[in-house]
Amino acid sequence: MTKILIVEDDAAIARNLTDFLRGEGFDAVAAGDVHEALEAIDESFDLALLDVGLPDGSGFSLCSAIKQRLRTPVIFLTASGDEYSVVTGLELGADDYIAKPFRPRELVSRIRSVLRRSGRSSSVVEAGPLRVDTERAQVTKNGRELYLSALEYRLLLVFLNNRGAVLSRQRLLEEIWDVAGDFVNDNTLTVYIKRLRDKIEDDPAQPEIIKTVRGLGYKL
Ligand code: CA
Repeated sequence: MTKILIVEDDAAIARNLTDFLRGEGFDAVAAGDVHEALEAIDESFDLALLDVGLPDGSGFSLCSAIKQRLRTPVIFLTASGDEYSVVTGLELGADDYIAKPFRPRELVSRIRSVLRRSGRSSSVVEAGPLRVDTERAQVTKNGRELYLSALEYRLLLVFLNNRGAVLSRQRLLEEIWDVAGDFVNDNTLTVYIKRLRDKIEDDPAQPEIIKTVRGLGYKL
């Protein structure tokens, strides 16, 4: 699981970020100041998100300290329009920056692109009890392998790549069309969702992983 250190002294922002990144399948850990961050960080972290102004020092000195010891990629959370911070951060070896306030989706896409560039992007994604290794196309639940058909697997990936978003039936049909071709219509989609749920859910009648959003579609 990709491990991210969030260093932010604003407790509300830190908590929201931690919850959000956990919801996206990351292992997120928060630190409130430079001291705590240096205590926490080690090579097990795949990325650090650093606020610039911290109570016991600056994110810049923290970035230098991290880069001296580890190869952990760093993204700075800067104040909008603060060019000085952006330039200083990048000069200190930061891998990217994002200006506050930012949309969480935007942050996640920056995180993923930095992870990709630094060769740390993990091929394993998790959703509750499910673990999907996209390199080996292997799905396990609580350590036990599940055998999905190509179409069921594709459908699951569509949900994993759009975590938390409501996907309409039309959108799902479009996404799986290249696997299913003309064989898939609205009725067969219902069948495929049911088969997927039968395999991944504890109780397919009360789905916990892929939920029905009445009148709109489905969501992971
Ligand atoms: Ca701050």
